[in-house]
Amino acid sequence: QLERQIHQTVLEINLNALVNNLNYFRSLVKPTTKFVAMVKAFSYGSGFYEIASMLQYQRVDYLAVAFADEGVELREAGITMPIIVLNAEPGSFDLMISYNLEPEIYSKTALTRFRDAAVRAGVTCYPIHVKLDTGMHRLGFIEEDIDELIAFLKDDEQLKISSIFSHLAASDEAIHDDFTNQQISLFSRLSSRIIDKLGYHINRHILNSAGIERFPSAEFDMVRLGIGLYGVSAANQPKLEMVSTLRSTIVQTKDIPPHESVGYGRKGKVETPKRIATIPIGYADGLNRRLSNGVGKIMVKGKLAPIIGNICMDTCMIDITDIDAHEGDEVTIFGENPTIMDIASWIGTIPYEILTGISRRVKRIYI
Ligand code: PLP
Repeated sequence: QLERQIHQTVLEINLNALVNNLNYFRSLVKPTTKFVAMVKAFSYGSGFYEIASMLQYQRVDYLAVAFADEGVELREAGITMPIIVLNAEPGSFDLMISYNLEPEIYSKTALTRFRDAAVRAGVTCYPIHVKLDTGMHRLGFIEEDIDELIAFLKDDEQLKISSIFSHLAASDEAIHDDFTNQQISLFSRLSSRIIDKLGYHINRHILNSAGIERFPSAEFDMVRLGIGLYGVSAANQPKLEMVSTLRSTIVQTKDIPPHESVGYGRKGKVETPKRIATIPIGYADGLNRRLSNGVGKIMVKGKLAPIIGNICMDTCMIDITDIDAHEGDEVTIFGENPTIMDIASWIGTIPYEILTGISRRVKRIYI
């Protein structure tokens, strides 16, 4: 309550919903299947420490971040569980080893440079996660690289493959299911070849959230849970709950006579008398400027009020002509209604971009 008095715009994060979503995904796979929880990009905007510590408490097997700095931030905050760094930058390998962060190794350059770092640090059997490119064509070893990879790692003292994985390009789109199945079988074949040759146990994983919902038979030993943890389902699963709600407050209302305009560039044309409200959230907070001029709507007292004029850096204005709203009233930018899926569709993007776009200056409140 006190935080809400100080901060007029907050991202409210429901940790119970997060745990329910985790348990829903756990119910879809074998009890022995390990979970990697994606906490990259500030846990898809939901905050680092609070989310990570809840996942650690829930005995998730790994956290995954994109860059070394994110892993270091988690370690400094006291997170002790295994952390995978997906887009590990070769320049950060020494730092990663000193913080006990496990790299995704996706190329020969990354492999040799990580082994050099392991030699410098004097570590042996350091766990690495080998990424195979089975069709996403982003990062990863391709089939032609496999023999060299095996030769490099066979009997290597410094590095030990802890897991082999790949990423699905379109696990949420039924139109590409044949392609997804091809990715899964290529992954199965290539990973088996590596495991047979190296002769020790290596976990395998390919499924992201949509993959877990739509291709559970390809769970292998581990799955990587991202957007589903935060409440977005590829299968319209009603059991998932949205974890975050973006709320703000009306800070001023005013009546605008006809022939006036609202905001920068005078884009909010007023032809008939209007009542408007100003909300302290702008594009610097992650309210995408493409939501300006009626594209976006904000929930006020149970009604959707269109954004009028251009969104400013720290504020926006909404049309409340038909709504009985006043200074101090709470508004919802996204949550139950509108959802982040609604906002994403208004501006032709994906919920991931909406969530990760909420800037760090927006106060996170955990409920
Ligand atoms: N695995 C990798 C390698 C990823 O890059 C991502 C997300 O970008 C995920 C898993 C999680 O995907 P999702 O959020 O769709 O579950």
